[in-house]
Amino acid sequence: AALLSDLLPCETSSPEATHALGQRLAERLQPGDVVALYGDLGTGKTQLVKGIAAGLGISDEAVSSPTFTLVHVYPGGRLPLYHFDAYRLRRLEEFFDLGYEEYFFGDGISVVEWADRVEPLLPPHALRLRLEHLGGDRRRITWLTSSSDSTRP
Ligand code: ADP
Ligand code: MG
Repeated sequence: AALLSDLLPCETSSPEATHALGQRLAERLQPGDVVALYGDLGTGKTQLVKGIAAGLGISDEAVSSPTFTLVHVYPGGRLPLYHFDAYRLRRLEEFFDLGYEEYFFGDGISVVEWADRVEPLLPPHALRLRLEHLGGDRRRITWLTSSSDSTRP
């Protein structure tokens, strides 16, 4: 997986800054990477995904949270982007039903909002990022290394 220690942790003070972070992150991503996003509503998960899309060369205007379909697929960039949102997930079986393995273990980039809801299905190589409100427009984005359980949310 890509090394992110020069990008994260960081604080952003605007949606544009979070978007820009996503763009820079996208340059590091390799086929089969899974980016797991943790954080409350409005912390900027979708903003970050839009930035990742832009960084992959995908028009980010089309990117919105796939709340009702669980996954949106965006082809046409350096790598395909699979954008998941587990917010409304009720049972893990729904993730099996949509064939998540084809995505997580495929050659594109998977990004999962509300990753805590599908924690047991995340592969060991997932990049875990936490987004937090710091008040106003400020957000903290942290890279949670997967080497130890104590770093998990
Ligand atoms: P989430 O997907 O985590 O629910 P969104 O990306 O959809 O969050 O929404 C984040 C909201 O917060 C947007 O309305 C955005 O304009 C606003 N915002 C304010 N400051 C920031 C920031 N620093 N980073 C990201 N979004 C921000
Ligand atoms: Mg969202």
